Amino acid sequence: MAQPDLNATGISANLDTEVGKFVVDSGLATREEVLLCREQQKQSSDPNQRSLADILVENSFITVPQAKRIKRALEDRRRTQIPGFELQSLLGKGAMAKVYKARQVSLDRIVAIKVLPKKSGESAEFVERFYKEGRAAARLSHPNIVQAIDVGQSPDGYHYFVMEYVEGSTLYDLMQPPPQGPGKQFTEGEVIDVGLQMGEALMHAHRRGLVHRDVKPKNILLTPQGVAKLTDLGLAREIDDKQAAESEAGKAYGTPYYISPEQIRGEIDIDFRSDIYSLGATLYHLLTGRPPFEGETPSAVMHRHLKDPLVPPDHLNPDISAGLSEVIELALHKDKTERYASTEEMVEDLKAVRSGRAPIHARHAIDLEQLSRLESSGATIDLEPRRSPGVTIVQQSLWEHPGVLVLLGVAGLSVLINIILAILLTT
Ligand code: AMP
Repeated sequence: MAQPDLNATGISANLDTEVGKFVVDSGLATREEVLLCREQQKQSSDPNQRSLADILVENSFITVPQAKRIKRALEDRRRTQIPGFELQSLLGKGAMAKVYKARQVSLDRIVAIKVLPKKSGESAEFVERFYKEGRAAARLSHPNIVQAIDVGQSPDGYHYFVMEYVEGSTLYDLMQPPPQGPGKQFTEGEVIDVGLQMGEALMHAHRRGLVHRDVKPKNILLTPQGVAKLTDLGLAREIDDKQAAESEAGKAYGTPYYISPEQIRGEIDIDFRSDIYSLGATLYHLLTGRPPFEGETPSAVMHRHLKDPLVPPDHLNPDISAGLSEVIELALHKDKTERYASTEEMVEDLKAVRSGRAPIHARHAIDLEQLSRLESSGATIDLEPRRSPGVTIVQQSLWEHPGVLVLLGVAGLSVLINIILAILLTT
């Protein structure tokens, strides 16, 4: 059935049409409600004809603050013209740019466009980072990575990056408590699903020689169907880009809550293991409701990444299986040489935990670590593959164990009795 034209009245065509489309696209009012208001507007004999926004407010379809925000958004949109695209609504604001939902006219499809504000466009560093993000994303093609479509500069001087539109929210937004967000608490199954999809996405990026360097809940979009997509490759770096590595030496690139110790130290040979750490920190946050290390300032948080022991996630949330906790602990090992040796291994372990088995690599790593601790201490060691949450089963040195002493006593006594019996029988 043909959709009725929201501009059918032809009144105050441009602005009212834009307002009508905007409220429908952003879900503030239905198409029927807008058409009703249009009809009322047409029948009004008021010479100072009221705007569509006013009538929507009068009918309580939108509020006064919403009408003001719509006006501001439309003005903003009018100033930002990208040839070939119709900007529809503002999806969100990042640290660097605004992201709009838009229609690509040539292919009649919905896309997302990241637009660098004019002010940021004057900074060579911002512009370079923006184009770098586009180029990095264009090298990747994976169902769990937001697909790059185009980058460019509009005639008005706006730098823009066109990408696949993902219906859904970032994991960060989903975790926000009301009124900012739904305050979602992720179940173990959901966290494993996100971990597996991000593991696959990172495997793809790592095989193409890219390290993301900023894996975090804000950079993962989740659709209502549970598909997770990695986005924002603004910090991505080629593994063998020695020049970039040298120029960034000594500086910490990343986000404090999720950054790996080697990134904090500004090491130059950053590789896939830093992404594994950040993925571990992201999964930790989803499972426990807090990042692995917190602090008053970014530097306090980073200091804790370097120095503080990790509180195992199953100590904070007893509903988590020991297996998943072990996977996250291994991903979050402070020493990158002790972490997963490949992203594939982490994926393998997450699959094992999903099917109710023990994580092969994480369990093996824990056993090895305990063995080396045994060698160095010689006495007190946890011989169980995994403790129950909050409970550490400590086994003492063999000779100190009361059971062993009793056994030795019984054995000694029995030898003594045998000797006495033998003497008695022979005499
Ligand atoms: P960013 O600048 O990448 O931090 O993005 C800012 C916000 O825009 C995010 O929090 C998302 O809500 C939204 N967003 C970013 N990229 C997309 C996309 N490809 N599809 C839909 N929404 C997006």
